[in-house]
Amino acid sequence: MSSFQDFGLRPEILKAISTLGFETPTEIQSETIPFILESDKDLIALAQTGTGKTAGFGLPILNKIDPQLKGIQAMILSPTRELCMQISKDLSAYAKDIPGFKIVPVYGGASIQPQISELRRGVQIVVGTPGRTLDLIKRRILKVDTIQWLVLDEADEMLSMGFKDDMDEILADTPPTKQTLLFSATMPAAIKGMASKYMTEPKEISVGKRNAGAENVTHEYYVVQSRDRYSALK
Ligand code: AMP
Repeated sequence: MSSFQDFGLRPEILKAISTLGFETPTEIQSETIPFILESDKDLIALAQTGTGKTAGFGLPILNKIDPQLKGIQAMILSPTRELCMQISKDLSAYAKDIPGFKIVPVYGGASIQPQISELRRGVQIVVGTPGRTLDLIKRRILKVDTIQWLVLDEADEMLSMGFKDDMDEILADTPPTKQTLLFSATMPAAIKGMASKYMTEPKEISVGKRNAGAENVTHEYYVVQSRDRYSALK
C-alpha cells in the first residue's frame, strides 16, 4: 500500500493532511496523485463523491503550483455553489502552511462584487460554477489564459444541469497546453464527447463499481424553498 510520504509531497502539505487525520491514501488518491505529479497528460477519473477525489487532484496541483506567481494557475469547475465552497475550503486546509497561496471560490446566487475584489488581489486557484466563471471571463476579470491545470469535477452533473454551452465557451478560452483532469461518477455519451473534443489521449482511471454510489455516503432529501437551501443544507 502506498503512503502520502511515498508520493514526495511538500512537507507543508504532508503536515496539513496529517493534522486533518489523513493516514493512508484512498484508492483514487493512490492512482491520481502520482500520475498528476509525474505527468502532464490529460486524465479521466471515474469516481464517486466521497472517495477522496478532492485531495486526489488538489494535493498534486498544490504541490506543483508556484505560490510566487500571481496569475491563475489552476481552475476547477464544479456544478454547485456548495461543492465550490467545499473544494475551496478543503484546498485552503491542505495549503494552510504554504505562504502566499490564494484560492477563491466564484459562484452564482451571491454578489459578484466581493468575488471581483478577491480576484483582483491576485489568486493562484479559482474554483467556480460554470455560469459565474463564464460571466467573470466575459467581464475580463477572470483571465484563464495562464492556467496550467483545468479540473472538471463531477463533469456528468455539470452536463446534466445544463452547463454544456458555458463549459464549451470557458474551455475555448483556456490554453491548449494545460493539463485537463476530468472527474465523473458516470461515463455517459456526452462526457465521452467532451473528452474526445477537449482532451488529448487521456489516461483513464476507474475506482469502485461503475455508476454506483460510494458505500460510505447515504442520501436523504428534504423539500425546501430555494432561498432556504443553503441553511437547510448546513
Ligand atoms: P471527497 O470525496 O473529496 O469529497 O472526500 C470525502 C471525505 O473524505 C472528505 O471529508 C475528506 O476530508 C476525506 N478524506 C479524503 N481523503 C482522505 C484520506 N486519505 N484519509 C482520510 N480521509 C480522507
